Amino acid sequence: MKLLEERIRKEGKALSESVLKVDSFINHQVDPEFMDLLGKDFAEHFKDYGITKVFTIESSGIAPAMMVAKYLQVPMVILKKQTSKILNGNVYQTRITSFTKGTSYELTLFSDYIQSDDKILLIDDFLANGEAATGASRLIEQSGAELAGIGILIEKSFQNGRKRLEDAGYYVYSQARIRKLGNGVIEFLSDDEPVISE
Ligand code: 5GP
Repeated sequence: MKLLEERIRKEGKALSESVLKVDSFINHQVDPEFMDLLGKDFAEHFKDYGITKVFTIESSGIAPAMMVAKYLQVPMVILKKQTSKILNGNVYQTRITSFTKGTSYELTLFSDYIQSDDKILLIDDFLANGEAATGASRLIEQSGAELAGIGILIEKSFQNGRKRLEDAGYYVYSQARIRKLGNGVIEFLSDDEPVISE
């Protein structure tokens, strides 16, 4: 999606060869009009997938996911990051290791907010090694529902997240795909280029 690429070119900062900072419009300050545009694009892309709920992982996925849910006219559910297991209550939980922080958390979903006949669209800000999305897929499968698609704002295509998700049988649509990051360098993959991962 050209608009997102342009914005990343203008405001994104490569902190290293693997981490991109987009704090001015996605991760810290949020641009609502831009989120609306991204949400509309996802909704258009997934309009024929029979989506019944949009899921996201707190916190940076919430803003775009909210807009997607608004355009698809379905509820949005936030998967929570808990520090420890909840031992009572009707919850699905799975352990995730965070790429950016190097920490672990229990991804948590209260069972009331998913039904076995739901078709879920998962929206997240970044795709790196696919830890978060794979964890979300485990929760969704535990409930018997279907993960019908995954929508990502920024895919770092030099990491193996897409391959991992595709190998597991999931469909991934990324609005911007980054081929290379480095000191002052942000390169994108064109739409028809194949995925490359290490
Ligand atoms: P994964 O689970 O795919 O390994 O990593 C994705 C998660 O880590 C995203 O939800 C995002 O919060 C965070 N993340 C991964 N790479 C980056 C990055 O380069 N920049 C930022 N801001 N977050 C990232």
